Amino acid sequence: MERNLPSILSETEELRSVNSIMLETFKLCDEMKTDLLEYSTDLKNDLTQFKESVLDLAELQKDLSALIQTVDSIESEIPEDCEPNVEKVSAIFDQVHLSHLENQYLNEQAENIILAVDAYNSSRKSVANADNELQMTDAIHSYRDPITKKLIQDPVKSKNCNHSFERETILKYLETHNNCPYTGCVNTLRKGDIIQDLALKRILLNMR
Ligand SMILES: [Zn+2]
Repeated sequence: MERNLPSILSETEELRSVNSIMLETFKLCDEMKTDLLEYSTDLKNDLTQFKESVLDLAELQKDLSALIQTVDSIESEIPEDCEPNVEKVSAIFDQVHLSHLENQYLNEQAENIILAVDAYNSSRKSVANADNELQMTDAIHSYRDPITKKLIQDPVKSKNCNHSFERETILKYLETHNNCPYTGCVNTLRKGDIIQDLALKRILLNMR
């Protein structure tokens, strides 16, 4: 191992930039999830593959983050004026790497995506198995109109809070109100804030 500290540190800089690219990727994954729901032609399959990829990426990012923390520990334990030797560096590495690895959590954004995919899959199952027992606490969408409590046919949503409604019901409601009718939602809502809910439309088409 003929490597000096400066070369190790410059590689760490690369690790850091790879790490930040991965964190950006999780944000993109969240958008991809929405696109999949809208445009996928084989949603069940696509969602499964998508979830596995996000999980792989998140595991990798976890390892990377532990490695970066380990290098930080090594740097902080070796005085700047001291010429580090390989034995000392690897001793510190062995000492701290495992504990950094054990203390890592999956990236929160990635975990949310995985949970949302799971929630979507289980809500689809419950829809298929018991159509009267729709669980409306689904992490992605509500399938029932909050006013009529009926399954939504022509979905629209609020630009302000992303809540979904039956088009006809919400437009009628907004003739006499200017708020989102979901219990606990404090957002204002006017006709101009209503847009078509393509993702929910996609889900509803797939449920039939
Ligand atoms: Zn709302």
